[in-house]
This record gives sequence, C-alpha cells and structure tokens, in this order.
Amino acid sequence: MPELPEIMSRAREMNRALVGKRIAGIEVVQPKCLNVPVKKFAASLVGARIAAVTSRGKWIFVETTKGWLLLNLGMGGELLLVKGGPLPEKRRLVFRFTDRTSLAVNFWWFGYAHYVAPERLDRHEMTKILGPNAIDLSAKDLWAMVKGRRGGVKSFLLDQSQIAGIGNAYIHDILYLAGLHPLETLDSLGEEDVARLGEAIRAGLLPAIKKGGAFYERNLYGRKGGFVKEDILIGYRPGEPCPKCKTAIEKIKTGGTSSFICPTCQRRKGKKQRRPRR
Ligand SMILES: [Zn+2]
Repeated sequence: MPELPEIMSRAREMNRALVGKRIAGIEVVQPKCLNVPVKKFAASLVGARIAAVTSRGKWIFVETTKGWLLLNLGMGGELLLVKGGPLPEKRRLVFRFTDRTSLAVNFWWFGYAHYVAPERLDRHEMTKILGPNAIDLSAKDLWAMVKGRRGGVKSFLLDQSQIAGIGNAYIHDILYLAGLHPLETLDSLGEEDVARLGEAIRAGLLPAIKKGGAFYERNLYGRKGGFVKEDILIGYRPGEPCPKCKTAIEKIKTGGTSSFICPTCQRRKGKKQRRPRR
C-alpha cells in the first residue's frame, strides 16, 4: 500500500512531467472511482491545463486551470505516463493530453479519482480531515498535538486525521528509531520523547522519499522504487538481529495489528518511570 514516500514521489514526478499539459480527453473504465457522473467529470476537466501537482498523506492533488483532480491509489496501483504506443491493458482511467501523451491510472483493488471545483477544496470530505504531512511536522507541532492526549502511540501515528502519510510499511521503523514500544501511551511521553519521535518520523520516511518510494510500487515511467527490503531496519524482519543491539527482532500482536520491535531497544516505560500526573 503506498504511503507518504511513494505518494510524494509520484506527485513530484507528475509535477515535473505533467505541468503545462492540457487534457484533451478522458476515458473512464471504472466509473465507481469517481465522485461525480462520468459526463460531469469529463466536462469539468477536459480542456484544463495542469498547473501543479502536490500531495498530502496518501492523496495526490492535481491542480488544474479548471479545478482539482484528487487521486488516491488505495491499496496500490500505477500512474503511468504513456508517450505514444499502446495504453497498458490494466487501466481504470486515462487522461489524454493534447501533446499525444497520456496518463494511465490503474488501481489494484480500488481507488479514487475525484473532481473538486476551484475554491471548493476545503469542502472535499475525504481530504479536508487530513492532518499535516508527516515530514512537515516540527517537534513543537508534534508536542502540541501529543500533550494531554491519551491512547497508544502507534494508533496515533497511523491516524490520518492527526498525521498524514504513515501506514503499516513505515510505522515499525519509525517507532524503532524513536525507541518507543508500539503500545506506549501518549500520556507517558515527555517533550524529549516527542522530539525524538519527530526526528524518527523524518528519519523513517526520508530515505524512502530519496529513493523514489518502495520497490513494490512503480513510478510514472514504470520503474520500481529504489527503497528495497534491505533498506528496512526492523519492519517485517522477525528473527533477524537488531541493527543496534543484535537482539532478535520480534513480531508481536498489538491490538488488531502486528508490530515488529526490538524487545531491547523498545521497552515500554515502566510505571515507576512514568512521571506523576497532575
Ligand atoms: Zn535493539
């Protein structure tokens, strides 16, 4: 499933390759992924010129001269720039540009392609609730969000309305880098712990962003992302030695999900260590 590094990489590639192109036609194979009827979707975007492409969390924001195209790849998919030649067989949506190139969109399972009129972006239900991009958070922002809050640190980090872009692929290394157990509670964290967590979020995501996302996703040109299995520190590597202390990495149950931890580097803070409340 694509997360911030993959989506940000796609948005950057699209921003470099698509800005200035004008949409000449749209083919919709899967109308269910739209938020408006096919005719309205096409009428709204045909003739539009791509102005900029950005991302927030798992959403890609394509700004055009006629409004917004918002894309969400769901469990995964491809955004392929096709320069002449046949379109990929698996496609749910195609944007043809006036320069005879096309953007072919495929969702492996289900995704969204929503049209939002100019000035109405803050009313788009699915994106207006998103928190700030995970890598944009300063230690100060994060402390303001965590302070006085209850609940587990892992579920907080995965909550897209708090922080946008972290999912099950990168969460394990982020918690490991922060030295936090996934079940650690927010009210047991001090300002220093939270500053360390902020650093860990960036350190856990930036290497993958630099490499164009994970190997299991393809870029705009069909090439695999450069962030490979060996780049992952402890996630999905049970039994392998912790890079810091050599303790075997464990896979544990945390609520309804699994987590990968180093049991030595990520101990839960004991009650004795917990600062008195009030
Ligand atoms: Zn360790």
